[in-house]
Amino acid sequence: MIFESKQMNLIFKDALAYLTFKKFDELPYIRHAFSTRLGGVSRGEFNSMNMSFNRGDIEENVTENYKRLCNAIGVSFEDLVASSQDHHTFVRRVSASEKGIGIYRPKDLQSVDGLITNESSVALVTYFADCTPLMFVDTESHAIGAAHAGWRGTVGRIGAETVRRMGEEFGTKPENLIVSIGPAINKCCYEVDEPVAEQFRKLGLNTQMFLFEKGNGKYMLDLIETNRQILITSGIPEQNIILSDVCTRCNSDLIWSHRATGGRRGGMCAIIESVN
Ligand SMILES: [Zn+2]
Repeated sequence: MIFESKQMNLIFKDALAYLTFKKFDELPYIRHAFSTRLGGVSRGEFNSMNMSFNRGDIEENVTENYKRLCNAIGVSFEDLVASSQDHHTFVRRVSASEKGIGIYRPKDLQSVDGLITNESSVALVTYFADCTPLMFVDTESHAIGAAHAGWRGTVGRIGAETVRRMGEEFGTKPENLIVSIGPAINKCCYEVDEPVAEQFRKLGLNTQMFLFEKGNGKYMLDLIETNRQILITSGIPEQNIILSDVCTRCNSDLIWSHRATGGRRGGMCAIIESVN
């Protein structure tokens, strides 16, 4: 395995591996990680670090995987709150009373693709396996957010919706936000067809920077660049947007990739918590 990234660290703790953004590692009040495939107890097609409860894996094994990752990054397992993603753009504010939802308490809401909180010790969990993770940190109030931007969520501008909701709920100013995009399937590997391409043309953004025609009605799509442009329209300063240079499909021995595995796979999670 050769891992190269300017923006991300690959950290090993015994057999467990996870990724972090260097920029977020510099913020003493932020704990965060992206899981990999390595260091868990799941078996078969979920071998070994599967963070998805809904793909047929043994629940106790997934729970143990969360406990191992939490232990490695200094987040309490009790603090986790998960989204229930289905490719929409609903962003939910959560607090200490929602801890455990989607992890050790049942999901209580459908259609949550983004989570925000301004409480410390509430750890936001989102799931991925090629789709684009977005993470938000308000460097002034230390409020945080996490969102899941697949192609539908991206077209629905979930990044802008998360910025808007943090402003509405916490008074967050876009210029105080640092936002990370990825790791996700990159433009090297993400082929889409005409109906999807058409949705991206309709966004009214700089299409030639993220949609590349290959012929035969096929396109390579750059979801990271699309999300970057959407965040800029929300007022996030360019220098506050961190782009992952890690492609999930190119690194599918390390990270779960839906396309690389043909869907026989586990999932990875992103966790972010503010401990101010
Ligand atoms: Zn790739």
